[in-house]
Amino acid sequence: METFVEALKKLKEGDVCFAHADHNPAHFDDAVRHDLADHGQHPYAAVITCGDSRVPPEHIFSVGLGSLFVIRNAGNVIGPFELGSAEYAAEHLQVPLILVLGHTHCGAVESTLAGGAGGHIKEITDEVKRAIGEETDPRKCEWLNARHSVKVLRDSEILSHLEKEGKVRIMAAIYDIETGEVTFDE
Ligand SMILES: [Zn+2]
Repeated sequence: METFVEALKKLKEGDVCFAHADHNPAHFDDAVRHDLADHGQHPYAAVITCGDSRVPPEHIFSVGLGSLFVIRNAGNVIGPFELGSAEYAAEHLQVPLILVLGHTHCGAVESTLAGGAGGHIKEITDEVKRAIGEETDPRKCEWLNARHSVKVLRDSEILSHLEKEGKVRIMAAIYDIETGEVTFDE
């Protein structure tokens, strides 16, 4: 079982490898698949990120099967299903780290800055609007949005209790879609 510090170190090293190496060491082979099927999953982090196709968490952190519990939607916002999924990851899978990974050039943030959207997309842009308030700088808004999701996660009784006990840490980060680098909110 990894600690928060070990989990964060692995993510950082994986991102450096992704951003600067010409290969990805992640394993996706038969043996890993069978081992995980036989012994269950023991991911070392939960990553809540945007559905944007330019933001694939396993690639970004150079990991294969069984390493990350991934929760995705447009804008990495937190609603009841995301909250339940995060509680499951922390309480039942005992991940020591929940990372909210926003990213540069996020369409959900840009759409919110442009006045929001219709249909069910509005539920997302309304939530992003609550996060960014009157801020208009997209880069600042992406951070505000990721940090807002951290705050919503901490409103969970289960997660805040586990964080107070030192069993999980909840943190924001931003992925730069051009450089491949992740900046952690430490
Ligand atoms: Zn996005």
